[in-house]
Formats: sequence, C-alpha cells, structure tokens
Amino acid sequence: MTLAGKTALITGSTSGIGLAYARALAAEGVSVMINGFGDADAIEAERAALEALAGAPARYSDADMSRPDEIAAMVARCTDELGAPDIVISNAGIQHVAPVSAFPVDKWDAILAINLSSTFHLIRAALPAMQARGWGRIIATASAHSLVASPNKSAYVAAKHGLAGLIKTVALEVAQAGITANCISPGYVWTPLVEKQIPDTMATRGLTRDQVINDVLLAAQPTKQFVTPEQVAALALFLCGDGAASITGANLTVDGGWTAA
Ligand code: NAD
Repeated sequence: MTLAGKTALITGSTSGIGLAYARALAAEGVSVMINGFGDADAIEAERAALEALAGAPARYSDADMSRPDEIAAMVARCTDELGAPDIVISNAGIQHVAPVSAFPVDKWDAILAINLSSTFHLIRAALPAMQARGWGRIIATASAHSLVASPNKSAYVAAKHGLAGLIKTVALEVAQAGITANCISPGYVWTPLVEKQIPDTMATRGLTRDQVINDVLLAAQPTKQFVTPEQVAALALFLCGDGAASITGANLTVDGGWTAA
C-alpha cells in the first residue's frame, strides 16, 4: 500500500520528534500539516521543504494545543486546504521538573492540557471524517513515562499514563471502522524538550550537567544511547501501513530497553 496522496496532521511538529514524523511521511508523498511554535522563517523554510519532499502541498498551523477552539479550527483548516486528515499524530508536549509539593499549579494545568487533553480534542474533531471514510491512523506520542515514573515529573507522568488510557479506549471504539489508534513511547531523545529540563534537574537533584546527561538520562536506557527522532518516526511510518492494520490499542516502546530494565 502507498501512503501517497494521504493527508497527515501532526501536532508539535516544528522540531524534534514531530518534525521527524513530518519528514518521514512527506517522503512517502503525504500532504502534511505541521503545527507548533518557533522562528517564523525557519518554520516557513521547513514547510516549503516538506512540500518539495512530498510533491504535495504542506501547511503550517500555529494553533495552541492548550486551546480546544484552536484545535477544532486547525482540523477544519486542514480539511479545507489539504483534505480531511487520514493520519493524525498527537505529539505536542511540554515538561516541567519540580517536586509535587513545589509544583506550580499553572504548570500542572498546562501540561495536562497540552500533553493529554489536546489529544482528546484532536481525535474528537478528526474522527468523524475517518469513520465516514473507513480508514484512519491515530498515533499519540506518549513516553516511557506512560509506563514508569521518575521523581519530580508528576504532571508529565500523569499526562502520559492518561494518554495510554485514552488511546486504548479510542482503539476499542473504532476497532471495526478501519481505524487504528496506538501510542508510541520513546525513551530519551535529544530534543529541545529534554535539553530544557536539564537545568531544573541539576537544581532539584544537585547534579552537574554531565551527571544529568550520563547518570540520569543515559543511565535510564540499557543501550546507553539517546533514541533518535528518526528511529521514532520509523515506527510511526510502519504503523501507518497496511502491515500494521491489526496493531491497535498498543503502547509501543522505542526506549533503548528502559522499561524492560
Ligand atoms: P520538542 O520540544 O522538540 O517538540 C515539542 C513540540 O511541541 C514543538 O513543536 C513545540 O513548538 C510544540 N508545542 C509546545 N507547546 C505547544 C502548544 N501549546 N501548542 C502547540 N504546539 C506546542 O520536543 P520533543 O522531544 O520532540 O517532544 C515531542 C513529543 O515527544 C512530546 O509529546 C514529548 O512529551 C514526547 N517525548 C519526548 C521524549 C524525549 O526524550 N525528547 C521522550 C518521550 C516522549
């Protein structure tokens, strides 16, 4: 089966794992709508590069994943300009590191909204067209933290565990409609999200930058290597193909053995 001619909507895809998803799908001829924040010129250059790679139109949406109204408007715009999304990847995410007793309430609310509730709103808006078509692929980027916890990441761990439950439920609801829903759970991938949490981890644990990288991040993964965005995207591409039609409701790890250990 070819994915060429299909449309994918990928949230949080201006950098890191999301951008790797977009590149992998565009390389198969998929029209992609990317989303997220960042430097406007860099985003436009990436959008144009994705269009050239796909040989099909690409769009950028600056919808804020903490805003249900903006999520619905993004899906509507994708439908108008590229076609109703055949593939939806809920990937936008943020992180904050602090012990529960000192965890800022506004950070808790933002992490739950962006990392968990946005996926509900996105699926809710995109699902009717997938059901009418009888084909669809829903993927959520969860995390090894959907299966195991780490100290000082209460909101992130709670949101990612919630994501696994949401995706399992969706998978059951659409199991006979030609639609699959799965989580991909990466281990540590060197992206802006991971880099930004290093100073807080240094402060909360009294560690140096090298200690955080080697004794916290790499130490979690038996391979002692970071996972790459491209390795995560390779799994997403597989899940979009016909060979993965019976894989649904799963939470698949790409974590260098972290959750096996
Ligand atoms: P990243 O910081 O490179 O990407 C995050 C993306 O989300 C960016 O495009 C950013 O602009 C976007 N974003 C942030 N807030 C947003 C909002 N309110 N609305 C719309 N977009 C928003 O980080 P990443 O590591 O590529 O993270 C992507 C996903 O992968 C996240 O869900 C993250 O939790 C998950 N993840 C990352 C790792 C890792 O080690 N990097 C591990 C497991 C899971």
